[in-house]
Amino acid sequence: MSTFAIIGSGPMGLMTALELLKQGHQVDVYERDDRIGGMSADFDFDGLRIERYYHFICKTDYPLFKLLDELKLSDRLHWTDTKMGYYYQGKLHKWGTPFALLGFPHLGLIDKVRYALHVMHTKGIKDWTALDKENARDWITRWIGPKAYKVMWEKAFALKFFEFQNDLSASWIGTRIKRVALSRRNLFNESMGYLEGGSAVLLEKMAAEVRRRGGRILLAQPIDQVTSDGTRATGVRTSAGDQPYDGVVSTAPIQYVPAMVPALPEAFSRQVAAIENIPVACVILKLSQPVSENFWMNISDERISIPGLIEYSNLNPGKGPGEHIVYAPYYMPKTHPKWQWSNQQLIDEVISYLPMINPAFKPEWIRATHCHRYEYAQTICPPGFQDMLPSMKTPLPGFFMADTAYYYPEDRSINESIDVGAKLAAVAASQGSRA
Ligand SMILES: Cc1cc2nc3c(=O)[nH]c(=O)nc-3n(C[C@H](O)[C@H](O)[C@H](O)COP(=O)(O)OP(=O)(O)OC[C@H]3O[C@@H](n4cnc5c(N)ncnc54)[C@H](O)[C@@H]3O)c2cc1C
Repeated sequence: MSTFAIIGSGPMGLMTALELLKQGHQVDVYERDDRIGGMSADFDFDGLRIERYYHFICKTDYPLFKLLDELKLSDRLHWTDTKMGYYYQGKLHKWGTPFALLGFPHLGLIDKVRYALHVMHTKGIKDWTALDKENARDWITRWIGPKAYKVMWEKAFALKFFEFQNDLSASWIGTRIKRVALSRRNLFNESMGYLEGGSAVLLEKMAAEVRRRGGRILLAQPIDQVTSDGTRATGVRTSAGDQPYDGVVSTAPIQYVPAMVPALPEAFSRQVAAIENIPVACVILKLSQPVSENFWMNISDERISIPGLIEYSNLNPGKGPGEHIVYAPYYMPKTHPKWQWSNQQLIDEVISYLPMINPAFKPEWIRATHCHRYEYAQTICPPGFQDMLPSMKTPLPGFFMADTAYYYPEDRSINESIDVGAKLAAVAASQGSRA
């Protein structure tokens, strides 16, 4: 039996803790925030408990389904036939079905066929190795042509990835296309899942299970440093002092690791520091009326600087009519001038977009507003990312790490954190003991 400190109580930290506890180890989870959940955490939005960032579940999220089953939460998982829209140059178009594609006026028939073939091809890819080293823009352009790339992808890449937009791995973008494309009931119906009660239902059950198995979750206790005796990790340092452990496992964004673990060899810290990650500022609105019928709306319009609107209440109806929730994410590097804007400025800008999307919109519809920021929200995966990823077992014996970058080539999701958390625990358990 070994003792472990886990850094971070997002789904990955909680999953790692659960797996180590199941193997008979002793575990303390340290969390900087005043609540569990990380990017999946919720907050009190004017009387409504809801995630700071939107969350949907796809039909292929198998590790999540297995965990829900184990925790007897499967009955909280619900599916909705969701609609998609594409707001392109001042007009909202239906999207996400063959009829919508056929009716879209900004692509010719050949482009539409090529677009559909690309999605069908991507849906069937099982081995992503070959696409790891390909550039996403070149790969997509080869399939659908430069005009369709411009209409369908260019703006989305620009607003989500900024200076990295032309340097993304094709496999990383391809797995996103595949995940969403496979989450359908049939060719005409996209089907997305949500947890009744939100991600908190799962996170709280995981936390309860950690505690039931003897683990501790220490909130508002940031790890300042992972201590070392010069040969291996010896424990953690917080404002309360040093605490010894046999192993330390970080699930915090790896960008924090070089400063937090000074005993790591410089070359390894440089490898970690080379991985880019951009923040998000996510505006949330509570409205008395829906903006649209869509859950997901992609946006490409010169006047609008967000890549889309997520009308969450069209996935999870929550309290039903009269309470409509819209998320509007600004992904942007900290060097972007709008990162310096106040939350209120971002909220006001999102509100100014709504009459463009729905001319019937009235400011009186607004019941509550909020904006939340996460410093390291989105890893950037350029071509060849697989070889850039540092090993979970670091060169400092007793210190292990992973974060959302380790989903690669998959996109960010709670499902992937559960999967990676289980793998991280297996690595730590096999190497963590001082014996
Ligand atoms: C805008 C947005 C939309 C998303 N949409 C979806 C979606 O639709 N579906 C889906 O499944 N997922 C979605 N996700 C992703 C999902 O939220 C994440 O993949 C998941 O929460 C990651 O969990 P994690 O535990 O791996 O990491 P994190 O959530 O990043 O957790 C890391 C934790 O480490 C803590 N920490 C950091 N430093 C320290 C320190 N020094 N000491 C102690 N603690 C520390 C942090 O406070 C945090 O709680 C979305 C995320 C965002 C931002």
